[in-house]
Amino acid sequence: MSATSGEPLVTRSLEFIGGMASVAGWRPESSLPEIAFAGRSNVGKSSLLNRLIHRKKMARVSNTPGRTREVNFFRVNDAFILVDLPGYGYARVSKEKRAEWRPLIEGFMRSSEQLRGIVLLLDVRHDPTKDDRLMLDFLSEVGVPTIVVLTKIDKLTAKQRAEQIFSISRDLALDSEQVIAFSAVTGEGRNELAEAVEGLLSQPSWRAVAAPEATAE
Ligand code: GDP
Repeated sequence: MSATSGEPLVTRSLEFIGGMASVAGWRPESSLPEIAFAGRSNVGKSSLLNRLIHRKKMARVSNTPGRTREVNFFRVNDAFILVDLPGYGYARVSKEKRAEWRPLIEGFMRSSEQLRGIVLLLDVRHDPTKDDRLMLDFLSEVGVPTIVVLTKIDKLTAKQRAEQIFSISRDLALDSEQVIAFSAVTGEGRNELAEAVEGLLSQPSWRAVAAPEATAE
């Protein structure tokens, strides 16, 4: 309790490197491993990233008008790239607009050579939406390692949260090790998430494992 030296994923540096606005658009050329964060608009992604990375600047960049629909890239500690995917499924826009997230997010994931894993955020208070299910189906089709974070856990009583964690996990057929309960208000789950991210970063790319012949230099 007295020291933060044992805290996983301490941010020593954070640099915004740019945004990808379309599937064929700019993206960083880097050999650093990438971890991407995805979730419905308003799920609590900015608040979570702020807790995880301890940098308000990051949330400011990602919430700038024009950047909210881009894939935003941040270099953390010169060790990895944090990829902030645009929030999807905003309820108050048309069906066509709501479907717009798919090509960009899916295109990014299919084309990223360095992607090591996805952190998918779900609001613990709600049943997963159709968009959440589409996203999870897509992730399992691509085969990318996925951690699911249930956000805003502080809004439920102990009994409600146990029920919701059980029912969401069962509904989506998730393993309990894959699911992290998180609160940006209390900080609960922050270190567990940081350790899970470090775990993903320490793995070789699942693409190399899945297709060894594709790894030739
Ligand atoms: P984003 O659109 O996914 O980036 O969501 P935000 O981080 O902007 O959060 C959306 C709303 O939920 C804001 O009003 C936040 O204050 C609130 N919120 C986010 N995380 C939490 C949390 O862990 N607990 C509570 N009580 N509120 C949260």
